[in-house]
Amino acid sequence: MVTYISTRGTAPALDFEQVLLTGLARDGGLYLPAEWPQVSLDHVNRQAASSYQDAAFAIMRPFTGEAFRDDVLRRIIDDAYAPFDDPAIAPVRRLARGDYLLELFHGPTFAFKDMALQVLGHMMDHVLARRAARMTIIGATSGDTGGAAIEAFKGRNSVDIFMLHPHKRVSAVQRRQMTTTGAANVFNIAIEGTFDDCQAIVKQLFADLEFRDRHALGAVNSINWARVMAQIVYYFTSAAAVCPGAPVSFTVPTGNFGDIFAGYAAARMGLPVRRLVIATNVNDILVRALKTGRYQPRDVVATASPSMDIQISSNFERLLFEAAGRDPHAVIAMMQALSRDGGFTLDEPVLRAITKRFEAGCADERQTARTIAAIRASDDILIDPHSAVGLCVAGRVGVDAGAPMITLATAHPAKFSQAVERACGVAPDLPSRLAGQARAQEVFTVLDNNLEAVREFVENRGQVA
Ligand SMILES: *Cc1c(COP(=O)(O)O)cnc(C)c1O
Repeated sequence: MVTYISTRGTAPALDFEQVLLTGLARDGGLYLPAEWPQVSLDHVNRQAASSYQDAAFAIMRPFTGEAFRDDVLRRIIDDAYAPFDDPAIAPVRRLARGDYLLELFHGPTFAFKDMALQVLGHMMDHVLARRAARMTIIGATSGDTGGAAIEAFKGRNSVDIFMLHPHKRVSAVQRRQMTTTGAANVFNIAIEGTFDDCQAIVKQLFADLEFRDRHALGAVNSINWARVMAQIVYYFTSAAAVCPGAPVSFTVPTGNFGDIFAGYAAARMGLPVRRLVIATNVNDILVRALKTGRYQPRDVVATASPSMDIQISSNFERLLFEAAGRDPHAVIAMMQALSRDGGFTLDEPVLRAITKRFEAGCADERQTARTIAAIRASDDILIDPHSAVGLCVAGRVGVDAGAPMITLATAHPAKFSQAVERACGVAPDLPSRLAGQARAQEVFTVLDNNLEAVREFVENRGQVA
């Protein structure tokens, strides 16, 4: 029986079903499995050779415990990946320069968030239907998460979803993905403010435990363990595609640290991973932290890779917990220092434990644009700015004969077509699904940057009083 424990040590241990519905632990921590399940690499590689879905079952099964019968879990996985536009789900491409690109953008919203949120949507729906319960999902998005979450939950009976985005600060493609579903259970709120303002309102709603319980609030941001779990799968399948059984390295365009933490989890489960490379844009807090030992947020700078314009990487807490030998007191001390002093210093053994597995590099806007142009010239493909940050950093790390490098491509270039065209002079083709959204009716409500206005909107289920 798999149980899950909080990085801050005082919230109750939960089973998978509870973790799925809970998101953030009540002590403010993040949930992790009490022990890392071990998988047989031979077995997973055989499943991966059969299909992505078979590998997904082999990886997720040990985490889900009693929550799903085997046939139910299989159906959830099949349903989750049915809308993907590539039968390989997460295909791997070899680049002319000798490293590899793992394409994670073949889902319905063309960003890697679909890889996990589709699974989460089907899992939550199944559990809620079984409990005859309903849930209210509230989230804040700077762009990609909102679209992928709405796509995963639109039209479901068990869930209402309220998504806050900063008014006029997300791209038109991103906004339309959220606002054109026509689904009655989807409520889009454009806040007159920044993403941080949206995030702050959501956090305050969750902190109001009476409101939280009465509306059965649920979170689908990347602190939800089930999202990390679903992302472990493609580390195994891509390694199996490149060189089954042998060591590989990964470079991961990183924002909230959820994606790369899934790579760490894969390593802990038995995948031979040589290096995990954190790639950031100029919002480089993680690069500075690994170099200096000081975790110190600065102001967020807007870049061409907005999904990585983040200064506080929430999932980094999971790595700190592991690196501190799973000592919740060490994590609490670091998090208290962060809110009290605006930063903290990693203890020497913690930093050493991290740098044993992780490296970090940053790509500025010019380097990112040059990478888009260089890959277009060498391979005749277009890559999006997030993936370009990854490939730029991976190129700097260089090819290691002993372990192939796989860089994660996290968004379809058409989602960021202006930046791609500016970088290389060619605009990506708009997939037909996105072209349809460009013509559809948009529904969203603009609200002041005000907690009470949002609270009332949620209370009244979108009826403005
Ligand atoms: C969310 C996102 C990222 C960052 O992923 P994290 O799990 O937050 O590190 C990178 N690229 C794109 C396109 C994304 O949407």
